[in-house]
Amino acid sequence: MHGIPVSSGIAIGYAHLLSHTALEVVHYVLPRNLVHEEIARFDAALESTRNELEGLRSNRPVYAAAEFDAFLDLHLMILADEHITLTSRKMIEHEQCNAEWALKVQMDALVAEFEAFEDAYLSERKTDVVQVVERVLKKLTGQPGYVPPVDNQGVKMILVAHDVSPADLIQLKPHQFAAILTDLGGATSHTAIIARGLSTPCVVGLHHARQLLRENDLVIVDGTQGVIMVNPEEPVLVEYRLLQSQWEEERKKLRRLKTTPAQTLDGTAIELHANIELPDDLPEVFENGATGIGLFRSEFLFLNRDVLPDEEEQFTAYRRVAESMKGMPVTIRTFDLGADKQLNGAQRVASNPALGLRAIRFCLAEPQLFRTQLRALLRASLYGNVKILIPMLSGASEINQTLQFITDTRKRLDEEGIPYDRQIKIGGMIEIPAAALSMDTFVKKLDFLSIGTNDLIQYTLAVDRTDEEVAHLYDPLHPAVLFLLSHIIGSAIKAAVPISVCGEMAGNVSYTRLLLGFGLRNFSMNPSQLLPVKQCVLGTDLSEISTLMQRMLRANDPNKIRELLEKLNCNL
Ligand code: PEP
Ligand code: MG
Repeated sequence: MHGIPVSSGIAIGYAHLLSHTALEVVHYVLPRNLVHEEIARFDAALESTRNELEGLRSNRPVYAAAEFDAFLDLHLMILADEHITLTSRKMIEHEQCNAEWALKVQMDALVAEFEAFEDAYLSERKTDVVQVVERVLKKLTGQPGYVPPVDNQGVKMILVAHDVSPADLIQLKPHQFAAILTDLGGATSHTAIIARGLSTPCVVGLHHARQLLRENDLVIVDGTQGVIMVNPEEPVLVEYRLLQSQWEEERKKLRRLKTTPAQTLDGTAIELHANIELPDDLPEVFENGATGIGLFRSEFLFLNRDVLPDEEEQFTAYRRVAESMKGMPVTIRTFDLGADKQLNGAQRVASNPALGLRAIRFCLAEPQLFRTQLRALLRASLYGNVKILIPMLSGASEINQTLQFITDTRKRLDEEGIPYDRQIKIGGMIEIPAAALSMDTFVKKLDFLSIGTNDLIQYTLAVDRTDEEVAHLYDPLHPAVLFLLSHIIGSAIKAAVPISVCGEMAGNVSYTRLLLGFGLRNFSMNPSQLLPVKQCVLGTDLSEISTLMQRMLRANDPNKIRELLEKLNCNL
């Protein structure tokens, strides 16, 4: 099967399917001695869900309709149904399976029973069954006792899902899947970005993989080509094992470059920074020799939780990163929630989430949340070289409002006698075409800029970065994109405002020379991409690429542009 390659490398392992309903549930077998604990965990989740529903009844909002009580009664009844309680418990005991799986199987059985009713009202109640089970599953997966699927006897497992949200993938991180396959998704979706960060081969946009693959099918995943092979013949396996060891050998060799300063053949120094999602990503930052953090996507601190992190918790996280980097730059982006990164319990689904209340728009609409984050950031700035980066700005009005928030927060801290770095730099992301075309304003008002190519391309070409149906149109080499990149970088250089790229283009070696040619000297990327990019920088002579760059900018024909890029990258 062919899909969109989003994270390189080769994996060989056994398919492990995530449930294909909206409830993505994994199945795993427990050692006999843990069954008792699993049943206790299941009972605790039921109990906690019951309390939650009872709580809703006692705190019934005044505006709630009279049917609210009837609805709660029904949900409590479903929760007490034998399928959900007794049969699930028996299944955990006899099949030694995880509680989530037992619950899911029983839910399917109960849904089938409801569907069989001829009465439309009763048949419709299957939705309530799903809602109740979803509630219990949330309790289960959110509990500390959540046991990841163990890879039995060291067998490598390949995760196969219809779709995985970025929040889910973060939770699946400790499970160490050998590869990730999804039916949906695009190359710069946040799910893909996280998979790259895990250095796990990943292919998305496979359309029917979840449906066609069976549990435990033997699968070869070529994350570089975007190809998967199911139950291959022995000669194919032999070939791919060889390719896999060659790939690993290459990665090992690259590690030797970790401490080599990044500079071009003609001696120009290049900054190679890392993008992180959580403070736990720091080891990879050091392993790959990054000289700073160019993008800390702080919104990941906010995902997968019911209670948002308070100022103290955020401060601790930011301080930890700032201190660990020992004076190297740490660029923390204020949270970019919305679009494909929703808060738990977010009620409203916008019809165009990527164009909706996202990033800075969301922050300005939630002043309390924003102020708390700004206080935590400013306080942490005392412990390292912290910079604040604002996502998705579109123009002067949003910049002014944001800067006013920061000034007010500083004032409040001054009044309270709380210290912070008074020289702290405030930067903005250029990721909306309107921003790219308003560079005069941006360079005047902000201390530094960072180009978010993932969104800049999405918004310039009107191509949803998470939608595999239009992935073929998502083209970083579109003449309009090249024009904007050259314009943004050129304008920032002219105004002497530091500029970097922190979108996925910065970590793709095919575009390293192109960006160097535009004048870029600061790249921030997934740590796993840092050494291949450094190798490319070390083999590049800036004086040799400038003529080709001019020709690329003048070319309008996509094939011509690709041909010139190949020439640019000829000895890579
Ligand atoms: C971008 O848009 O390129 C970017 C770096 O931000 P994110 O991928 O988090 O939207
Ligand atoms: Mg972005």
